[in-house]
Amino acid sequence: MSEVLLKVSNLKKYYNSGSLFQKKKTLKALDGVSFELHRGETLGIVGESGCGKSTLAKSIIRLIEPTAGEIILGDKDFGKLSGQNLKEARKHIKMIFQDPYSSLNPRMTVNEIIGEPLDIAKAYKDIEERNKKIENTMETVGIDLSWKNRFPHEFSGGQRQRIGIAKAIILNPDIVICDEPVSALDVSIQAKIINLLFRLQRELNISYIFISHDLSVVRHIADRVMVMYGGKVVEEGITEDIFSNPKDDYTKTLLESIPYIR
Ligand code: ADP
Ligand code: MG
Repeated sequence: MSEVLLKVSNLKKYYNSGSLFQKKKTLKALDGVSFELHRGETLGIVGESGCGKSTLAKSIIRLIEPTAGEIILGDKDFGKLSGQNLKEARKHIKMIFQDPYSSLNPRMTVNEIIGEPLDIAKAYKDIEERNKKIENTMETVGIDLSWKNRFPHEFSGGQRQRIGIAKAIILNPDIVICDEPVSALDVSIQAKIINLLFRLQRELNISYIFISHDLSVVRHIADRVMVMYGGKVVEEGITEDIFSNPKDDYTKTLLESIPYIR
């Protein structure tokens, strides 16, 4: 097996509900998740709506703060980093969001959106190099350069997702977490975006954490699969093993719910 890029141990995210005068209830959105991600691989994450997939994704990159657990990114204790060190480490792990309509700032041009990670990381010498990097990335993901100064609302869903992908890859990350990256898109566009992600993986040697409720997509693209239920991992293994010989009862039920395999 290749190098371990990310090691997550016993990750938890609890939400407390109920006001001051009500009985407090704790929702365990993530309840002790552990796994490793290796260089160049795709780890699929499946499970019904509400099982904690997005909470896991956001906790890993610390878009939300986990309640407990350890996140080791390369040789860094990512879960404990702050300030400049956190900013620096975040260059290596990026996320592509489910909804390309709400995840892009409507008041920024494509040029500004894709260039933002460069600006935050100060990853260029001069404006010329900045522009070159943005243009190269636009070409890589298939956005016409003449659309640089347009705003997100002028693009279709698939094109917007390409903008989101460009923003995610412009700093050459090791890991990209894709949270249902095509489920908000027309079926006709989905395969194109999946193929783009595939190509980028080969060209840039990206490791993916690929979250999807579409099991046929996961079977197609993931090397390993992790099945979640109620904030926990109930089964994990090589994709073909999980699909052809599921051990866990929940996994069996989940697989039986696929109407057909594409
Ligand atoms: P999935 O992505 O698998 O559909 P989520 O990670 O979005 O699931 O949600 C897991 C659980 O955590 C759900 O029960 C959801 O309602 C709850 N949850 C998510 N975000 C919050 C929040 N900010 N406050 C309270 N509960 C939340
Ligand atoms: Mg989700």
